[in-house]
Amino acid sequence: MRPLLLLLSALAFVGCQNVPITGRSQFILVDESEVASLSAAEFSKMKKLPGDKRLAKVKEIGLKIVAAARRDDKAGVLPPSSKWEFAIIDDKSPNAFAMPGGKIGFNSGMFQYAPTDDDIAVILGHEVSHVICRHGSERVSQAMGVAIAAAVADEATKNSSSKTRSTWMAAVGIGAQYGILLPFSRGHESEADHLGLLFMARAGYDPAAAPLFWERFSKIGGTRPPEFLSTHPADSTRVKQLQGWLPEARAQMPKKP
Ligand SMILES: [Zn+2]
Repeated sequence: MRPLLLLLSALAFVGCQNVPITGRSQFILVDESEVASLSAAEFSKMKKLPGDKRLAKVKEIGLKIVAAARRDDKAGVLPPSSKWEFAIIDDKSPNAFAMPGGKIGFNSGMFQYAPTDDDIAVILGHEVSHVICRHGSERVSQAMGVAIAAAVADEATKNSSSKTRSTWMAAVGIGAQYGILLPFSRGHESEADHLGLLFMARAGYDPAAAPLFWERFSKIGGTRPPEFLSTHPADSTRVKQLQGWLPEARAQMPKKP
């Protein structure tokens, strides 16, 4: 497609939106429902363990967190409770994810690091926060922005020397690598940690489990899947931030009768 056409089709959905609670404004070029249907197609291909006894627990905790998060969902991003789908994924790597449109996957390999309900709530709080903050759509929008920049750069340098041209293309490539190829940005991860902590507390789980979970999780060896990379954000920063948000989270906890 010609760059101009690409740009125009992207701008059809352009919108500046705000993240709940933090109020950060974000630039979104795609229709959330389009990202949701792409996600649903990916989700349907995954190898699931429908008979796993732990599925009911994950679903119960997940739906409590979704209900707790809904209070801040002014834009109506979260699907209704009946539309959420939960699955235990047959995968030994310790990972979990939430997709736009409300598909939550919890790898079988994650349970050994999340023995309690509070631990599972830490993980699901984080994942549901990625959904309510539309991080998936934002990431796709960033990728589209880079593709558009590459197309425009390519067009703009057609008549210049090959050296200028390769410098341009390298710059675009570096931008793509740091901005997009890394799964979620540090900012997105911190945002999901922060909101996830508030939502888990509001749902009745102990937020103090969060810094402990991440501290424990940072010590495991071997390769970790992108969503739970040690450097993303740096574990010590993550734990310190979570500890700093604990008073705010505790204030959200339901009052004991
Ligand atoms: Zn995350």
